[in-house]
Amino acid sequence: MLIGVPKEIKVHEYRVGLTPSGVRELVVHGHEVVVQSQAGLGVGFTDEHYIQAGASIASGAQEIFARADMICKVKEPQAIECRMLRPGQLLFTYLHLAPDPEQTRLLVESGAIAVAYETVTDDKGGLPLLAPMSEVAGRMAIQAGAHALEKAQGGRGVLLGGVPGVAPAKVVVLGGGVVGLNAARMAMGLGADVAILDKSLPRLKEIDMLFGGRIKTLMSNGVNIDESIREADMVIGAVLIPGAAAPKLVTRKMLGSMKPGAVLVDVAIDQGGCFETSRPTTHKEPTYVVDGIVHYCVANMPGGVARTATMALTNATLPYALELADKGWARALLDNAHLRDGLNVCCGQVTYAAVANALGYPF
Ligand code: NAD
Repeated sequence: MLIGVPKEIKVHEYRVGLTPSGVRELVVHGHEVVVQSQAGLGVGFTDEHYIQAGASIASGAQEIFARADMICKVKEPQAIECRMLRPGQLLFTYLHLAPDPEQTRLLVESGAIAVAYETVTDDKGGLPLLAPMSEVAGRMAIQAGAHALEKAQGGRGVLLGGVPGVAPAKVVVLGGGVVGLNAARMAMGLGADVAILDKSLPRLKEIDMLFGGRIKTLMSNGVNIDESIREADMVIGAVLIPGAAAPKLVTRKMLGSMKPGAVLVDVAIDQGGCFETSRPTTHKEPTYVVDGIVHYCVANMPGGVARTATMALTNATLPYALELADKGWARALLDNAHLRDGLNVCCGQVTYAAVANALGYPF
């Protein structure tokens, strides 16, 4: 199969759909890979790296879309890219179609087969191609929050791990899923005093076992949230109710009970945020202050560490890309129900119930 990797064209997107090591695996499997010139430059992968891995280089996206059987990307295709897709061509990337009628219409009109990373499932009911970005965002949340806690950033001037003789900072993590667990691990590693609140008791039990009691677990309810945030130096928002807006767990009024200069990192901002005072920010201007509390609400956190995020993404997507390339999309989707869950649009039809329902397509 011929696999094409175009350069991402969404503003400030530096990630790329395949790393050179991913390319090499596909080539070893007997496939041909064509990468757009400079597609990986933003994350330190030169054309030479891709050539050494066995790819050929195309000067423009048009050549890639015209020739490839499968397109591997990161972000949803922009309108100009949708218009280059051909009937029967396979697109493997993040799509997030439900809130995007325009992209859905263009994909339907293209006649292509679009498999979305974010709806591929695994045996445990997880979303294996979304998880790597949650891991990145969770770990980054502590790094970003630690910086925001510094005095010059408007924070209370507290070092997460303290020093001998001085207590460490208190970090409260709301939501103990993939983001929350990774944030807690980082905070614990830096020596902070960490508590996780979740409303799932089985999840709290798992976390307790995992950390041998070194992280405090608390049921997420009004009383525990009130008490925890009052004491906190940093609060991480990491809750998710699948398919719904994030619940507002911290209201503006509650900010008044917090320590001045404490930091809120709202990772759940891409679902509307779990603090009432959250609004999306960018890597360029990541923080703002409300009632003396520093807010960090960057909606695309992994973009800030695009090289790590690219490598994490290829690690997760490559086995599926190989299956699609080795068997062809029809056989691969018949054989693998989890990969089939990723199918959102197929030859002019919306094939994912939630997208069809949200946008009024027949299903
Ligand atoms: P997840 O499903 O793995 O975990 C969510 C957790 O929230 C679950 O354990 C669930 O029990 C818990 N939860 C639900 N309601 C709760 C409540 N009221 N109180 C406490 N816990 C509650 O999800 P995840 O992968 O960890 O993602 C978390 C959020 O981070 C999502 O909104 C996701 O979209 C977002 N995210 C943002 C970025 C970014 O760049 N900003 C990157 C990756 C993920």
